[in-house]
Amino acid sequence: MPQDLPPLVDSHCHLTWESFDEDRADVIARMAEEGVEQAIVVATSTANALECAALCEAHPGLYPTAGIHPNDVPDDVEQALADLDGVLMGGGFVAVGETGLDYYRDNTVPERQQQAFRHQCRRALENDLPVIVHIRDKEGSWQAFDDVGDVIEEFPGLRGVIHCYTGDPAHARRYLAAGFVISFAGILTFPKGDNVRESALAVPIEETLVETDAPFLAPVPRRGKRNEPSYVAHTARSLAELKGLSEADVRRITTRNARRLFRLPTEETAGPPTYAIRDSLYVNLTNACDAKCTFCPRTHDEYEVKGYDLRRAKDPRFEEIVAAIEDPTQYDEIVFCGFGEPTLRLETLKQVAAWVKERGGKTRLNTNGHADLINKRATAPELVGLVDSVSVSLNAQDRETFERHCPSAFSPDGYTPMLTWIRAAKAAGLTVVCTALAGLEGVDMEACKRLAVEELGVGWRGRTLSEVG
Ligand SMILES: [Zn+2]
Repeated sequence: MPQDLPPLVDSHCHLTWESFDEDRADVIARMAEEGVEQAIVVATSTANALECAALCEAHPGLYPTAGIHPNDVPDDVEQALADLDGVLMGGGFVAVGETGLDYYRDNTVPERQQQAFRHQCRRALENDLPVIVHIRDKEGSWQAFDDVGDVIEEFPGLRGVIHCYTGDPAHARRYLAAGFVISFAGILTFPKGDNVRESALAVPIEETLVETDAPFLAPVPRRGKRNEPSYVAHTARSLAELKGLSEADVRRITTRNARRLFRLPTEETAGPPTYAIRDSLYVNLTNACDAKCTFCPRTHDEYEVKGYDLRRAKDPRFEEIVAAIEDPTQYDEIVFCGFGEPTLRLETLKQVAAWVKERGGKTRLNTNGHADLINKRATAPELVGLVDSVSVSLNAQDRETFERHCPSAFSPDGYTPMLTWIRAAKAAGLTVVCTALAGLEGVDMEACKRLAVEELGVGWRGRTLSEVG
């Protein structure tokens, strides 16, 4: 690419499609040639979301979403949405979608599409993620465009993008007013794209994204070919011409817009995979957590711990983590903590722990005790020999007090599974210490200590609220 141009983000592509099976690695490598540093790999179903996550795990610069496309909402919509919730809970996704309304095809009735769309908007809002919206109408009708406006306006505070925009300026203005941004694809470059160009002129560049929607809709001069993320440069050039801006302007501004919406890390804001406090090294395995504890800073969208900004848009890979640890013996212990629940990434946790143990280091796991709930199996025996000690946030002497402070998204009862896990960990031979925070409403520290020491037969450490990390 021309070296002095700012990088680009392809805000929407489907790189898991089978049309990329032959040469996916080449397609991804070509992104760099055009300066496309990052791309959002968009899911169309829950099963596809897992494929997107696996692909993105292997490629820095790619970020997965989880959602159900309006054309792929199955008959058993309740089950499909429950499955999606489970996958979203695992964390690591930068958006919910693509969802939306498609009245052009009628393989799914509008009512079912709307139910799935509303559900995904709600989940996006709850998880503080943007939602990716697809809209397609029957020829000459604006029903889907109107209905999308109605739905997103039901969720004040919801962020998102209307992708591959094909509507008119009036509807675009309605979505902008609801807090959404608008994304333009290759249609912008088509000879017959006058209506799309008219809308692009009506949307301020500060609220505009560019995308490919690859493998579909390749822009001129690649029209009719399979589309791929590197071609987003053509759309950016065309937008620059249309708006009387330079290519550099469009790249700089749309990239900033995309990074803001999806909270993509940049070199400066990637967040460290590890961070040292006192003589211990903490591993920031994930920002995701299945619990929303009232006292946890991340519940309040704060990600700073002891002077470190721990926000990460992407969970660090094994290679990244061990490169940051370098030599485990220079620390008292390597602690799996981060700002989320480490056992959401059990496989990577075990891999890193094994690597640390092989090199003579010591390991500790800080957990909410939900590993079995999350991984749907008995996990404690798997940690034997890998984790020297486990610190579990007991947090309360009874279930009722616990649920008030630590509601779990997985289960109406996060307390009983935690106690079960503590017993299993002790039975497996792990060294377990329970902790609780002094000063929380209703928490009886003495009762917590009795429960830990006398009933569960494990260690105890009381902590104060200010002592995060
Ligand atoms: Zn799409």
